[in-house]
Amino acid sequence: MRPLAQCQALLAAVLASAAAVVSTSAPAQDRLGERAAMIETIKLHARSAPSAVEGQGIDPAVLETMGNVPRHFFVPEEQRGAAYRDRPLPIGYGQTISQPFIVALMTDLINVRRGDAVLEIGTGSGYQAAVLSPLAAKVYSIEIIPELGERAAARLAELRFDNVEVKVGDGYYGWPAHAPFDGIVVTAAASHIPPPLVEQLAKGGRMVVPVGGPFATQFLMLVEKRRDGSITTRQLLPVAFVPLRGGRVQ
Ligand code: SAH
Repeated sequence: MRPLAQCQALLAAVLASAAAVVSTSAPAQDRLGERAAMIETIKLHARSAPSAVEGQGIDPAVLETMGNVPRHFFVPEEQRGAAYRDRPLPIGYGQTISQPFIVALMTDLINVRRGDAVLEIGTGSGYQAAVLSPLAAKVYSIEIIPELGERAAARLAELRFDNVEVKVGDGYYGWPAHAPFDGIVVTAAASHIPPPLVEQLAKGGRMVVPVGGPFATQFLMLVEKRRDGSITTRQLLPVAFVPLRGGRVQ
């Protein structure tokens, strides 16, 4: 390599490592005020949905985590300005990142504890997985669109959400190798509650899943597996999710 080329290569390496430092250390401080405002909006929204939100409102640990996760890193460049508004946003491939209130509600409903293993179906941008990450021991997430899954995995690694594992596949069938799961979050609407996911739910575990056809009203359902193995389901509130795709969902 000629000296000039060597010098350019070195400069490129220095710039690349500087970019890596900036992108992994800055996000937590970035746009703090907007995240604080988002948390207030979530609290207000929770008060207007008492049938879905349990107890005194969304768990403060969930709100704290959402106050730390840089949501603007999970949306496309052109959507960054709107990242902290309480609404879903397009993330490409016809898919959406859920609105902050719904992410908070779903995370709250599965009652994550520190040692828990949690499964998410529909990685999308990786945002819901990032919110689950500090609350759980391990987060497994499955995405059916390879480009989204690969991008989310890279983003989560770059932002050091090290306990999240993403795989590309059909989440209808769950991830038997890592089952049972203490909590399962399905972020795409199924026509029915997928039996393999009920099977892979631990005793005492909880699953939230939107159920309903793409052109019909969908409801967020809470599925609980009791200690004795019996299942209870509760319909919480009407929602609008993109459909769960794949082999067995129609
Ligand atoms: N949780 C995501 C939002 C997901 S949108 C976030 O935080 O950004 C729903 C996602 O589910 C889409 O990315 C869609 O491609 C994915 N999906 C749809 N059907 C699926 C299936 N059968 N298995 C896994 N992922 C699926």
